[in-house]
Amino acid sequence: MIKNILLLAHLDESNSGLPKIALEALGAAAELAHQLNAALSIGLIGGDVQAAADSVANSGAQRQLAVTGPEFAQPRFASDLLAADALCRAAAADLILAPATARFLRVLPGLAHRLNGRVDTHITSVQVVDGAVCATRWFYRQRIEGVFQRDVRPWILLLDSGCHEAYNGPSGKAAIEEIAVALPPEARRTTIAGIRAPKSDTQTIRPDAAVLFVAGAGWTKKQPDGKSHPDEAEARILDFLRLSGASLGGSKSLVDLSGENQAVLGFMTHLNQVGQTGSTPRHPKGLSTCCHGEEPHVVGWRFINERRAINLDPNCGWARGKADVLYVADAFEVMFKVNELLKKTQA
Ligand SMILES: Cc1cc2nc3c(=O)[nH]c(=O)nc-3n(C[C@H](O)[C@H](O)[C@H](O)COP(=O)(O)OP(=O)(O)OC[C@H]3O[C@@H](n4cnc5c(N)ncnc54)[C@H](O)[C@@H]3O)c2cc1C
Repeated sequence: MIKNILLLAHLDESNSGLPKIALEALGAAAELAHQLNAALSIGLIGGDVQAAADSVANSGAQRQLAVTGPEFAQPRFASDLLAADALCRAAAADLILAPATARFLRVLPGLAHRLNGRVDTHITSVQVVDGAVCATRWFYRQRIEGVFQRDVRPWILLLDSGCHEAYNGPSGKAAIEEIAVALPPEARRTTIAGIRAPKSDTQTIRPDAAVLFVAGAGWTKKQPDGKSHPDEAEARILDFLRLSGASLGGSKSLVDLSGENQAVLGFMTHLNQVGQTGSTPRHPKGLSTCCHGEEPHVVGWRFINERRAINLDPNCGWARGKADVLYVADAFEVMFKVNELLKKTQA
């Protein structure tokens, strides 16, 4: 029986509030605590967590625990691990829910080992079935959905983004219970000197965008005039991203071209690749352009609710039931028109 649920979270990159994915995990934790009649605690890690704690003061959590101070502001395996360990023990947690951020995906498997518990990552939902907690995740690149339970406690679940509605109750004044953690010198050895992020990651990958825009190798292929037009392609795509705020994905063929020194879109890297050997982003809508829609690519569209595609070929993969709407048209022309309309609307 689960008595104590802990929602574990760290501050966002600006070190002020909670990232959206943490609020989604909190939404799931609060729902679960209600269904199980279990106590809910929130455990925060960060430099100064008061504002973040206030923002979730009315979430129904009985306790707000925190490990704070400048040493806990930056992500670092050793200090995050000790902080998370102290919070879990203070909350006597048997079920720990946490957002699947890069920071926690590194640290919480280590926490499970320290607590002699178990951890599961990439969880997409948590439910109560006949009084037992069941977690769901995908296997084999989102082709098989597994639902499972575990007896071992504590059980740590890292929830993927976009799978639960984010908690958005009114803020209040939180009474924080500070948990003291003394860091030994070996837990302070790593410090962050600065962040160097690939251009495409910072500028074009936007997980919270309403639309995913995917570019395929067709943008770099010879067009009806017998020539390729990479500059024009780049302008069309960047204009659309700027005007719409969409996130950018790429097909494997397109991102691989950069490795073969062919004419490519300069802002596209392997980080943008969507598919079986790429990512599986979550967005309400997706628009595929100049991309054939082959199965290994379409696997990455598993969580796009509404799919549209533009392709010159009426027999492309999208036409075989993989897109809700297929425009058989020239993507250069369509995106030019779309951008003009967006400019007009915004003016
Ligand atoms: C094990 C394995 C794993 C793979 N994993 C992935 C993966 O993770 N992600 C992925 O994307 N692929 C993956 N692939 C590759 C995949 O099978 C396809 O080869 C790839 O997705 C094709 O990319 P593309 O559609 O951009 O290019 P192409 O197949 O070259 O298609 C280009 C398309 O552009 C269209 N076109 C050209 N000009 C225009 C225009 N002006 N307007 C409109 N349309 C135009 C053409 O009609 C054509 O359909 C994998 C393959 C294997 C074997």
